[in-house]
Amino acid sequence: MANAFTSPEELIDYLELDRSLLPAARAAALRFGLRVPRGFVDRMQRGNPQDPLLLQVLPMGAELELRPGFVQDPVGDLAATPAAGVVHKYHGRALLITTGACALHCRYCFRRHFPYQEASAHLDRWQAALDYLGRDASIKEVILSGGDPMMIADSRLAELFRALEAIPHLTRLRIHTRMPIIVPQRITEEIVEELSRLRLKTVVVVHCNHARELTQQVCQALKRLEEGGVRLLNQSVLLKGINDELEVQVQLCEVLFDAQVLPYYLHLLDPVQGAAHFNVSQKEARLLYRQLQQRLPGYLLPKLVYEKAGEASKIPVTL
Ligand SMILES: *Cc1c(COP(=O)(O)O)cnc(C)c1O
Ligand code: SF4
Repeated sequence: MANAFTSPEELIDYLELDRSLLPAARAAALRFGLRVPRGFVDRMQRGNPQDPLLLQVLPMGAELELRPGFVQDPVGDLAATPAAGVVHKYHGRALLITTGACALHCRYCFRRHFPYQEASAHLDRWQAALDYLGRDASIKEVILSGGDPMMIADSRLAELFRALEAIPHLTRLRIHTRMPIIVPQRITEEIVEELSRLRLKTVVVVHCNHARELTQQVCQALKRLEEGGVRLLNQSVLLKGINDELEVQVQLCEVLFDAQVLPYYLHLLDPVQGAAHFNVSQKEARLLYRQLQQRLPGYLLPKLVYEKAGEASKIPVTL
């Protein structure tokens, strides 16, 4: 993490990319900073401005264009916040905003404008979130989200796990994190042991968009989690120019399975301001998905969904 790139200039030079990309990258990075750990950059192809991993993190001029329908809070998270740091939209499960920090900044992030300062559950505010979870016995599953919950130190995570375990009606813990993919070294024996000791059944949902993200080191981290009794699922976002081709999706799902992970969701992009250039239309998505369905066994097919503010679940794209 300490060696992460945060300067567009350094990233562009390191990858031997054309310096003409720099002015736009600098301007866009002022709105939402560049951040990408070196270990992820080393999976990119040098000299290729279209590299599918690079496109996820390189700030671009297109982000500065305003497009109708692409807004700051596209999924209505702020309206579904009953206590500081809690987003409760769906029956039986509540989401905790544990931190605003992430190992890397995805340019298409639906929370890129999220007011983490006011709306996180971290520091003293965990208490308000825990009180809320404790009061509502219909909540069986707590989802740690962010930001990235694995950015939090082990000692503080352990403290949070213990507080959650003390809530009798909770039976499942779900952690949404990109960390096993981005910084696999984060998945230490210690944190796996901590997870495997829990009373709560534990699910880790990673976020991997392209097969090239899964290096051998990543696979080892996933194996450690699986051996610790954690179930592994993947969610990805359908992104123009990154993973919107059939072969890319087929390969992603197959490689995930080899790495102990089942594809869970393939999300349509949330219409967040600054990410319109990544959008794949519903019509295109449907066409791609139909082909994908014919290529993969049912258990390797992610659910194609999108999110709409005010709805009681993610919404499947109907074919
Ligand atoms: C997506 C989401 C969930 C999880 O939904 P599942 O369909 O169970 O994966 C829960 N809470 C919020 C606020 C969400 O956005
Ligand atoms: S890891 Fe998730 S929360 Fe963090 S920048 Fe990427 S999409 Fe956003």
